[in-house]
Amino acid sequence: MNKTILINHYKIEQNLIKKVLEISKLPDGRMLLIFSDGYLFNGLLGCCIPRSLVKYEPSIGIFKPYLNEKWDYVVALSKIACDYRATHEAYFVYLLAHEFGHAHVGINDITTHIFSCIMQSHIREASKDKITQWHELPHEKLFDQFGLLVARSIFSNDQVYSEIKSLTEIPECKDKERLEVMLSLPPFKGFDSLRKELISFALPYKDELIRLWKKERSDLSKSNISSILELVNDVDEMFIH
Ligand SMILES: [Zn+2]
Repeated sequence: MNKTILINHYKIEQNLIKKVLEISKLPDGRMLLIFSDGYLFNGLLGCCIPRSLVKYEPSIGIFKPYLNEKWDYVVALSKIACDYRATHEAYFVYLLAHEFGHAHVGINDITTHIFSCIMQSHIREASKDKITQWHELPHEKLFDQFGLLVARSIFSNDQVYSEIKSLTEIPECKDKERLEVMLSLPPFKGFDSLRKELISFALPYKDELIRLWKKERSDLSKSNISSILELVNDVDEMFIH
């Protein structure tokens, strides 16, 4: 915990946070960890952003009060996510560890992280509506597997399963499809193959993705808005591993 700046407005137990951190074995770096009602757009449950990329996330304001402090990446969970602590504790741990999965890749392999960001923002259009759900994306699947692994290390397999099952049975549940997929995901096997998986997932849409990225880059160059695409010198290189 000594490498973490903790903003804990919902008084999540430190012991639980410690346990999740121990099991998650995050790479070196100082984390800003926020459990707060600062807004996360679109009802997001959580986010993870490396410090070098925060300027490309102007719509996520949750880290803004802490920009004067020294940290390498921010992980935040919203009120909706933190409220699960009381009712679905294993699911809460899964949500936190899912974001820690993003942190692993964001800290250890920023190029793969950037690839996942620029791919997810255009894949729907590039695939002509074949890919519409976040949980279809290789990185999201991988971090779901990681989140489940951590939750199962703290709670029993049965508890994790029955909490997710009970969430799918709530009629107004927005994540039903994702949760159902989670119930049958294969076990987590490490982060190393992610780049390869992203490349083979995006390959059928490569030409269209590159066209959209280039278009976004030229549209943005005419405005003052900055985009994560500034960091990619050669979009073709994203597909070379
Ligand atoms: Zn995610």
